[in-house]
Amino acid sequence: MAPAGSRRGLGIGELLLDEGFWGHRQATNGDATLQHCYDWMERLGWLANFDRVADGTTGGHRPGWQFSDSEVYKLLEALAWETGRSPNPRLERMWEPLVQRIASAQDEDGYLNTCYGHPGQPGRYTDLSSGHELYCYGHLFQAAVARLRCHGHDLLTEVARRAADHVCEVFGPDGRAGICGHPEVEMGLAELGRALEEPRYTEQARLFLERRGHGSLPPIPLLSSAYFQDDVPVRHARVLRGHAVRALYLAAGAVDVAVDTGDPELLGAVEEQWATTVERRTYITGGMGSRHQDEGFGDDWELPPDRAYCETCAGIGSVMLSWRLQLASDDVRYADLIERTFFNVIAASPREDGRAFFYANPLQQREPGTEVLADAVNPRAEGGVRAPWFDVSCCPTNVARTLATWQAYAATVEETGAKVLLTLAQYAAGDLRVVLDGGETIALRVETDYPDDGQVRITVVEMPPAVELTIRLRVPHWADAATVLVAGHRPEPVDTGWATVPGTLTTGDVVELDLPMPPRMTVADPRVDAVRGTVAVERGPLVLCLESVDLPDGVALEQVRLLTTEKLAAVGDGALAQVRLAPLPDATPGTVPFRRLDPPAAAHGPHEPAAHGRALSVPLVPYHRWAERGPSTMRIFLPSSTPGT
Ligand SMILES: [Zn+2]
Repeated sequence: MAPAGSRRGLGIGELLLDEGFWGHRQATNGDATLQHCYDWMERLGWLANFDRVADGTTGGHRPGWQFSDSEVYKLLEALAWETGRSPNPRLERMWEPLVQRIASAQDEDGYLNTCYGHPGQPGRYTDLSSGHELYCYGHLFQAAVARLRCHGHDLLTEVARRAADHVCEVFGPDGRAGICGHPEVEMGLAELGRALEEPRYTEQARLFLERRGHGSLPPIPLLSSAYFQDDVPVRHARVLRGHAVRALYLAAGAVDVAVDTGDPELLGAVEEQWATTVERRTYITGGMGSRHQDEGFGDDWELPPDRAYCETCAGIGSVMLSWRLQLASDDVRYADLIERTFFNVIAASPREDGRAFFYANPLQQREPGTEVLADAVNPRAEGGVRAPWFDVSCCPTNVARTLATWQAYAATVEETGAKVLLTLAQYAAGDLRVVLDGGETIALRVETDYPDDGQVRITVVEMPPAVELTIRLRVPHWADAATVLVAGHRPEPVDTGWATVPGTLTTGDVVELDLPMPPRMTVADPRVDAVRGTVAVERGPLVLCLESVDLPDGVALEQVRLLTTEKLAAVGDGALAQVRLAPLPDATPGTVPFRRLDPPAAAHGPHEPAAHGRALSVPLVPYHRWAERGPSTMRIFLPSSTPGT
């Protein structure tokens, strides 16, 4: 393991994206999503909640859930990153009045919450299981850190510092031994401690972590203490369980604490939890959480495609966790999962215009979604159509802050004296300007149409003379027959994993990475019963799906059988697949949809007879774009026409 802190991600201004896949989404996020979130929160009174605390008029009725303050903080975080990357006067004007309103609601002793502790409201910290007060602070701290990193100290730094001091006072070593039902404050405190060089905050994060797992939170009806990871101490758990977002935020906070306090046992425990969770409890999209009831992980191999919950926020939590582990241990598997999750969960959530979102991300839609009201708050988990806002609206602001900081995950930098190791982990076209500790700049130009195309061309534009630059490139787990070409040499085949470009590079050098991405068929581990006998198609980092809108009239999605013996053709960023239509059996009302398995079929196993119906070609499109053409049915896993597949 490299010493903590020697490997860093990119600062927000070190990579400016062109108008490619992520650059386009980032621009839409800045142009539309941030204002959209602000407008909804103003309209619903979530912002005015702060005003009412400030002027002492809280009373008994307060709009929004108890955690709505956190949405305001996530918007602040998104604003900080967005304006930190490149100046944006329109968004910058939002900042100060918003922070002023929040600051005015802070109590004398640093307490800050609009749902508890004021006239007509329940008392402070009277419901640690569900109250989310500490959770809200976590998001406040992350917003303050974003602002600090991009703009330096301002009023929000002081608000966060006073709140963090208050938390340490109330829940410190001599205070109340409580924890929050929804982890997040651990990560927030650790980040703030790092940014302000205040070890008390890191220590408080460590205390919250160590206190967890002893069943101290009063249970919520129908849910066990695993729901909020209070069943097993973090360092003893073997797998992520319970509410997926909570589990992932807690694990991310644990990595922060492990790295900052030098605790290899804790780091190793989270690495093992990650590995087991990815192996057994993660969808092909990278989505996590198969149960709706508790928004939680299911058991091992419990990955139904149609009942998949896969909350957008869980995808974001997964990226946050994997990123921390990538920095801590340099294992390429973390970067691979980040890519899978970014393209197939996070990119799936926002609509093309950035003003509607998926909350749940199922892998199969059996009924077309019902058109949502463009101007209404929607129930959160309704699948099938992206909605402008939700009753519980954690996902839109989470998408906003994550898209605003995509480039932070793109590369890592390690400096050892004059030697610099630059690792490109995620690919997008743009200009990279890495500022070294000594103030010199390494500038690279990255040209690519990724993920439409797997060619990545990197040109060294500027190199300080005294620096020895080595570049490493991620060759994704799916990339067979990848090559690296350094100008003037022959293309060299490279294995999947980290590929080190030979030699040190200097101004004018060009490196070309070629990642062939023909469409490929993928089957699940046979223990994933829900998709046995089916095949998914992927292309490069993209999971593809079949949508009903792409089928001829009169053909139902349930009839389609993929001919696995036929070649897939690449078409645009998707594929063309050869399929055959199976006749749908006549259903008999009043009888269960199951039939006797008669001999001789029983002797050979219960295979579905091969489909003999019409053969046709159907387009498979990237999953992240599904339902952009109106309500449709959709599936990623297609039944195979080949018995036994
Ligand atoms: Zn969410």
